[in-house]
Amino acid sequence: MDLGALEEVMADFCMRSPLNFVPELDTIQIFDSPLVGIANVDDQLFEKLKETDVVGPQHLSPRQWLPNGQAVISYFLPFTQKVRTANRTMGLPAREWLYGRIEGEQFNNALRKFMTEWFAKAGYEAICPALDPRFTVTNRRSNWSERHVAYIAGLGTFGLSCSFITAHGSAGRLGSIVVTKEIAATPRYYQNIYDNCSFCGACILRCPPLAINEKGKDHNVCASYLDRVLAKYKPRYGCGKCQTGVPCEEKIPQKRQSNIT
Ligand code: SF4
Ligand code: SF4
Repeated sequence: MDLGALEEVMADFCMRSPLNFVPELDTIQIFDSPLVGIANVDDQLFEKLKETDVVGPQHLSPRQWLPNGQAVISYFLPFTQKVRTANRTMGLPAREWLYGRIEGEQFNNALRKFMTEWFAKAGYEAICPALDPRFTVTNRRSNWSERHVAYIAGLGTFGLSCSFITAHGSAGRLGSIVVTKEIAATPRYYQNIYDNCSFCGACILRCPPLAINEKGKDHNVCASYLDRVLAKYKPRYGCGKCQTGVPCEEKIPQKRQSNIT
């Protein structure tokens, strides 16, 4: 089993699952095929995530989730062009984005479950930490950070807005699976955690509650804005203005020097 085979299985599920389509919105497709990366469970960076200024001591290593684990499969599901372009307006989130955020995560959970069962059928154990009863989030810090895991698995780096910028951009959702199957790790093509961000500052201007500045994102301001969106659109919420209508929406931005003074 190689990376290509995994990408094929997951891409096929994306096309077949009815959960990846929204009947209320002209049956638009939520996600394109995923970008997949592999991390070795013994990668030293997993220990680094336990440091207080990274994720924190509560972050569990792959073998704490699955003692015989060998590899971590991390994937990025890019939102389709229809979902992304609908959200390029300023202000309130597009309906397409709200469905992508909530129904999209239901599809993501279905993909996690499907892959767990797919590995079981092939004779391997697999666990998706995000679906495991041990998964917790306290004060917005989880014991399994999909973004940090994606960084280790060679999928991309962080951006000024705290989004995660992959070769297919930042507008999308992440997921991961720990498996007992050995799979070759994906080389990381970057050295630093912000290598894929051009520091163009476009996300600063896109953020409705001004949660982003040249130093990064104020998570409290963003969260309280999302609460207000939830109050308006319950049960859906989301924003994603910092991931759409920006140079890193669907690709790694070209310009790498800072525009922010
Ligand atoms: S919009 Fe520009 S500054 Fe903001 S995360 Fe994307 S590349 Fe970085
Ligand atoms: S999700 Fe919305 S509120 Fe939060 S940082 Fe991005 S643009 Fe700002």
